[in-house]
Amino acid sequence: MTLEHLGFSSRAIHAGQEPDPTTGAVVPPIHQVSTYKQDGVGGLRGGYEYSRSANPTRAALEECIAALEGGERGFAFASGLAGEDTVLRALLSPGDHVVVPSDAYGGTYRLFNRVVRAWGVEHSIAKVADVESVLAAMRPETRMVWVETPTNPLLGIADVAAIAEVAHAAGALLVVDNTFASPYLQNPIALGADVVVHSTTKYAGGHSDVVGGAVVVAPGAQTHDGESVAERVAFHQNSMGAVAGPFDAWLVLRGLKTLAVRMERHCDNAEAVVDFLQSHPGVTSVHYPGLPDHPNHDVAARQMKRFGGMVAFRVKGGEDVAAKVCGETSLWTLGESLGGVESLIEHPGRMTHASVAGTELEVPADLIRLSVGIEDVEDLVADLRQALDRLT
Ligand SMILES: *Cc1c(COP(=O)(O)O)cnc(C)c1O
Repeated sequence: MTLEHLGFSSRAIHAGQEPDPTTGAVVPPIHQVSTYKQDGVGGLRGGYEYSRSANPTRAALEECIAALEGGERGFAFASGLAGEDTVLRALLSPGDHVVVPSDAYGGTYRLFNRVVRAWGVEHSIAKVADVESVLAAMRPETRMVWVETPTNPLLGIADVAAIAEVAHAAGALLVVDNTFASPYLQNPIALGADVVVHSTTKYAGGHSDVVGGAVVVAPGAQTHDGESVAERVAFHQNSMGAVAGPFDAWLVLRGLKTLAVRMERHCDNAEAVVDFLQSHPGVTSVHYPGLPDHPNHDVAARQMKRFGGMVAFRVKGGEDVAAKVCGETSLWTLGESLGGVESLIEHPGRMTHASVAGTELEVPADLIRLSVGIEDVEDLVADLRQALDRLT
């Protein structure tokens, strides 16, 4: 039985995770080590010489996440942004141009706008939910199109297959940030993406106890000048060194084993929360790709298994009411981040997206974002209801 033919959970639990050959331990050990005894000069055992270059616990995670995304190779990083930075420096050069989404993780936009731009890489902003907008933003020197779907925080949906065609026709690579969907709900490589990035801090880790990132490269992906994308990312991962430590890699690997069951519950709970929000008179709009009236619902239904655990909504009464609601729940914890077992509530305008205020990525002031956890959904709805009943 080869791994590629196994189902998602079988791969999540077994890929890269053979029982330890010396002890039979069914869980890969935390190889908390920096260097390795060599069998004579240059005689590496299993390819390990120094833990920035490779570490067995990290290698287990890298193999597992590659198997879950259908990639040729996976790479684990100290954070999602460390992985993104490595991808950008591996695949772009000064003078290149990138198309980036109008609705994106604030830190990703800051990386393009404040870090990569200073290095000489220009970007244009496109509404990724609209393929024509991506096409219009392409330039002769565009080498990369960056897409997040679902988008953060407005839960827009980009058509990955259609944007892959646009990017490839122009000789550009398509990178998809798959953090919000997780590899359980969506596999961008199967839709034509060249590179997938994750903040494993979120659903992959799933327990709000680790910060990490992952990059997965599609089989055979090449740069415009014919180099292997996987080789370039591998070279830069080692050269720049923003790798995941062994314990962090181990925590993410443990999280991945239960990703499928957690995502099913996140989706069930999110659907019930969306139903409640739609029925509440204090809520003016609900953003969720599973809603039939979501502008790209049909695309989401085509490329995602279900619609995920992230929900955003707007309230009557504007910014102050929205901010107050976020402070008046008890089971929903006021906090940034997402994708953990516990439910989180936040005000993007003043919290996660404060860094994009005044830019083209500014978000509505009366918007509230929910990361729906896996608690009992009746309790989650009751807590939201008491806050909305009192404040809206
Ligand atoms: C959190 C997040 C990131 C950044 O990841 P870190 O692990 O915080 O560095 C990137 N993209 C998305 C969609 C995120 O939610």
